[in-house]
Amino acid sequence: MQNKPYRFLFLSTPVGALGSGVGGGVELTLQNAAKALIARGHTVEIVAPEGSQTSVTKLTQIAGNPQISAQTQVGADVVLLPQDSVLENMWSYARASQSQFDLIFNFAYDWLPLYLTPFLQIPIAHWISMSSLSPVIDEMISKTVELCPHAIAVNTRACADTFSAGDRLMIMGKGIDVSQYQFVAQPDTPKLAWVGRISPEKGLEDAASAAQSTGLPLHIFGLIQDQVYWQQIQKDFPKAELHYEGFLSTDALQRKLGQCTALLMTPRWVEAFGNAAIEAFACGVPVISYRSGGLTEIVRDRQTGFLVDMGDVDGLILAISQLDKINRLACRQQLEAEYSLEVWGDRLEKWFNNLIENQLIPPE
Ligand code: UDP
Repeated sequence: MQNKPYRFLFLSTPVGALGSGVGGGVELTLQNAAKALIARGHTVEIVAPEGSQTSVTKLTQIAGNPQISAQTQVGADVVLLPQDSVLENMWSYARASQSQFDLIFNFAYDWLPLYLTPFLQIPIAHWISMSSLSPVIDEMISKTVELCPHAIAVNTRACADTFSAGDRLMIMGKGIDVSQYQFVAQPDTPKLAWVGRISPEKGLEDAASAAQSTGLPLHIFGLIQDQVYWQQIQKDFPKAELHYEGFLSTDALQRKLGQCTALLMTPRWVEAFGNAAIEAFACGVPVISYRSGGLTEIVRDRQTGFLVDMGDVDGLILAISQLDKINRLACRQQLEAEYSLEVWGDRLEKWFNNLIENQLIPPE
């Protein structure tokens, strides 16, 4: 079946500007989804907070105060909106311009967009990029899929299973632009990488501990979201060779990441997916990760990396000593087979086609 070209309106995360890193993996996910759909002949407009940047397609910037990140609201049974909320302003724009689009694709992990699903004239698809964090969002996810089946997607089965409506969520995986990442068959010198927001739920201290014990340098890439936490890690592991590289563009990141022997992923929460893992694979870098959340569906133990129990630093160290057993080409091949933009774009297009052609918005 040939789909007609659709017009998509993408609403970015309201926690920060697109390109700032505050939004974490969802920033790359949104831009890759746009690329995948544009490659298939569709058009995409991105709406994002003021200060955003993207080279992918038309961008409309919206002023207003950012939302508080959901990961700082664990267990919350209230919803907070600041005065002059950018989330509110983005949805006002969506309402006013909806007649120019076939579908809205929402990337906010927030109550309001879910609640608004049945109020607009066109279908809304939601990308829920984190696991369950608070009862107030969970309940709205359940109500939304009850009213609008197929409206909500997550990355992985593990992420879906954290929600009470988990069996009704679409499992969509993820894709990246393989051509942006260069495969490195053999790095020049042994070194470890850690990629992510520097924030307690991401567990950098365990990677620092493993670096200290093995004596290998650890190159750290990402936005420092919690300065106190970062300072504490440097105090706690004085003998670890920690190199903070900053928050880099995808191109600069992949150049440095490719030169690493392994990526350590040591999250202390249920990681819904873990973009950094597939970006590492694209460069031929094996991933040593905790056996938790979406990462268990990405990393193939002893083939494209190692899975160890959460908090098991000795397990990380053992895995590091066995890295020569991993074929770096197998990492790149897994990425190409499962996480290319073509594979993902096909899945997204089928999802949206179903929502649009069947007008899966609730009856009057
Ligand atoms: N990232 C980046 N530059 C850096 C470090 C990280 O662009 O220097 C991006 C990386 O590409 C990934 C995201 O930050 O897309 C981190 O996403 P992940 O899903 O691993 O974790 P999250 O922050 O969403 O919890």
